[in-house]
Amino acid sequence: MTGNRTFTMIKPDAVENGHIGAILEKITAAGFKIVAMKYTQLSRRDAETFYAIHKERPFFGELVEFMTRGPIVAAILEKDNAVEDFRALIGATNPEQAAEGTIRKLYATSVAENAVHGADSDENAAIEGAFHFSGREIF
Ligand code: ATP
Ligand code: MG
Repeated sequence: MTGNRTFTMIKPDAVENGHIGAILEKITAAGFKIVAMKYTQLSRRDAETFYAIHKERPFFGELVEFMTRGPIVAAILEKDNAVEDFRALIGATNPEQAAEGTIRKLYATSVAENAVHGADSDENAAIEGAFHFSGREIF
């Protein structure tokens, strides 16, 4: 059974480049309902915790620097088959490999600065959502 919620962040590059509105428009036009949302900034510890799975990777330091350098938009999204459908909407990690019309194809500038995050499983969507939102912030 697949869940109906996923977790996303609009990353610092897309915020800096003025793409918050366009990205939220793509998300809602694709049928996702926003059930929680906030404008916030990750601390170094937040980013290290959030991306702990990548801590042995050569790009981990760069990833933490990037994700903490400015504000982000964090959101929980609702739709049938949310995790898989949202990963399809954002496109491949590397924008050069992302399909036409995907958010990363449109707004990412590199594999490192790729505009948006999408949870990769129902389990991680729940963990990541709980990391950012209390129960009374989810509607
Ligand atoms: P995300 O988890 O942010 O949705 P993803 O699941 O598509 O992205 P991951 O493999 O989880 O990709 O990588 C997490 C993030 O680490 C990427 O989104 C990107 O910002 C960064 N990253 C991944 N690969 C590289 C790389 N080769 N060089 C630099 N940064 C990278
Ligand atoms: Mg990932």
